Amino acid sequence: MKISEKAQALLAKYKKFQKLDIFLLLLAAASFVFLRNYVLAAAILIFTFVLESKVYICPHCKKAFDCRRKIMEDTCCPHCKKYIFKGLD
Ligand SMILES: [Zn+2]
Repeated sequence: MKISEKAQALLAKYKKFQKLDIFLLLLAAASFVFLRNYVLAAAILIFTFVLESKVYICPHCKKAFDCRRKIMEDTCCPHCKKYIFKGLD
């Protein structure tokens, strides 16, 4: 599927965020397991979820969707069923 430059930038942003998300979850797990710092782990988790709900939103209906699902050029929004990266121009 051919997508616009704007859509490609959005896809790149989502993919970058997916890596950041994994990193943050590992960080939370590490502070829980190694530092025994539950407050820090909880703080990182909350920060991650807030970030998810800000970054991972459908450009059509503005609803947040699960950032841990696989995302590709032809991925549809689970809420409005539109192609996320189509019709952005
Ligand atoms: Zn949507």
